[in-house]
Amino acid sequence: MRDEGDYTEYYVPSDKKKDGRAGISGRKPDEKKSRKAAGRRDSETGEWALMTVIWLIVLLIFMGIGIGIGWCLWGKEEERPDIDLKAIEAPSWIQQDFIRKNIYSRPAVSLEQVNGIVIHYVANPGTTAKNNRDYFDSLADQTGDGTSVSAHFIVGLEGEIIQAVPISEMAYATKGRNDDTISIESCHPDESGRYEQATYDSMVKLTAWLCRELELNPKKDVIRHYDEGGKICPKYFVEHEDAWKQFLEDVADAM
Ligand SMILES: [Zn+2]
Repeated sequence: MRDEGDYTEYYVPSDKKKDGRAGISGRKPDEKKSRKAAGRRDSETGEWALMTVIWLIVLLIFMGIGIGIGWCLWGKEEERPDIDLKAIEAPSWIQQDFIRKNIYSRPAVSLEQVNGIVIHYVANPGTTAKNNRDYFDSLADQTGDGTSVSAHFIVGLEGEIIQAVPISEMAYATKGRNDDTISIESCHPDESGRYEQATYDSMVKLTAWLCRELELNPKKDVIRHYDEGGKICPKYFVEHEDAWKQFLEDVADAM
């Protein structure tokens, strides 16, 4: 029959048992105890490290899911709406006076979709919208390697707006973006490229209307010819960045 001593010897917690042996081996129990506590702290530190790693993995998984969802949503936003360009009807303040179909200025190539609007200036001071429309039309009479240029719209010195090419067709105005943009030419009285107030107001009105019809964002989708290839066009808006920013603000406000 075991006495209390035997029982204690068998069932005391292991650290107490070892303390006893430590005494036998000549080490101070206190020293041994602190070594054991340090060991326990080591194993606690290990557990914390493991937990931290697990939480980091969980966090990374959630971040991955978040980025994945964001990517999908972004992709959806980039997808352009399906707009029937032929069905867009011009308001009465736009005079439609289409130029002849020809390889130099109206190639009769259908635009699949419109992703932007490009603003230009005619670089021919004092000319009217009609003058420029007729110039684009006259290019049809060329032969061989001729001049190839046109625009969908021309805004005149008195604010008149002539549409020379249908929205559903390609015009030759912005090399590199002719196949997915609508171009607006603008008339100006002198070399500085500065606009008459009537011209400016019509440019704002026309651009805002196009942005609405084509579901475009003026802050993102309306650009200067300069932004696509670096040409100094439209001169005034290239040389006056603040005026360009103001123009985009005015278009957004007019929408
Ligand atoms: Zn241009």
